[in-house]
Amino acid sequence: MSYDKPIPTQGTHTKPFWQGASEGKLMLPRCVDCNRVHWYPRHICPHCHSMNLEWIEGSGRGRIHTYAVQHLAFGVWAKEAPYVTAYIDLNEGDRMLTVLRGVDPEKPEDIKIGAPVVVEFEKANDDTYIPFWRVVEE
Ligand SMILES: [Zn+2]
Repeated sequence: MSYDKPIPTQGTHTKPFWQGASEGKLMLPRCVDCNRVHWYPRHICPHCHSMNLEWIEGSGRGRIHTYAVQHLAFGVWAKEAPYVTAYIDLNEGDRMLTVLRGVDPEKPEDIKIGAPVVVEFEKANDDTYIPFWRVVEE
């Protein structure tokens, strides 16, 4: 089955992320000066405005910060509805927006804020693996 969702464009400042994703690694940008991780990748640290950035391999683990059940969607996502989107608190800091897997959108009461999640990557094409997050046992 081929990937039928929009495929992100890879820029020079996001190459390490996509390279890591193709190897099953969650690469995260970190500021060398203030030592904080930020998401999404930028040329300037959003915390201290330093341009002295590096990439680290993240744990691929986090927790649900919040979520929403998407009942109405457009384009290629329409056939997926209902589905769950969530903000993930990364173990290394900052948050990542995702489509949450391993949950039943018809039973949102079963989705717990703070539940542990792990990242997984879905192949979109030979160069692009898209990160999703899945709820796991504590
Ligand atoms: Zn910084």
